[in-house]
Amino acid sequence: MMTTTLHWSPLVSKIMILKKVTLATALLGFIGCTKPPSAPPTGGVSVDNSDTTEITVGDVVTELDKTGIKGVQAMKEQVDVPTEYNALTDFEEYVILQKGTERAFVGEYTDLDDAGTYICRQCNAALYRSDHKFHSDCGWPAFDDEIAGAVDRHADADGYRVEIVCHNCGGHLGHVFAGERLTEKNIRHCVNSVSMKFMPKARNLPPVITKLTTE
Ligand SMILES: [Zn+2]
Repeated sequence: MMTTTLHWSPLVSKIMILKKVTLATALLGFIGCTKPPSAPPTGGVSVDNSDTTEITVGDVVTELDKTGIKGVQAMKEQVDVPTEYNALTDFEEYVILQKGTERAFVGEYTDLDDAGTYICRQCNAALYRSDHKFHSDCGWPAFDDEIAGAVDRHADADGYRVEIVCHNCGGHLGHVFAGERLTEKNIRHCVNSVSMKFMPKARNLPPVITKLTTE
């Protein structure tokens, strides 16, 4: 009975090792990171320097071109993320930038129960999930929790309320109240609909806009 044994020819193995080592060495030498070692560290493999001519400068340039194209693509993706906040209507500016309040019971999200995420209308940062929302009958959308780190609190200029703003852009959201015993968490974020944009669960969230500063 015949058996067939497959094995690498020692010559093929040696050439493969040398090609890898030579390519790495050439790349490092080409970009100035290190001096090419005098002999490849190939534990016990004897080196015949005549084999080191198997790759050409063209191969090295091709490898660098691949890296360069990836780098350019990554930079382009970064540039494509907006660096200016979403444009606002006059009324959105009045609420978000001048800390105004929309009238009770007219906001588009006051009674909305759909599953999804409420994001900042100015910068797209995710603020609240629909499972934070509850019916407070106060006339504005109410939430008893927030997405961690999304909402900052400040003492309101009126001296007694606590203003809430978007952590990312500082846009005015509304006010937060504690101790009303409306839900187990005992918190009510009273938020202007116009400060937010509702994103249904099936839709991907848009990228958060972080405004570049010139400082
Ligand atoms: Zn924002």
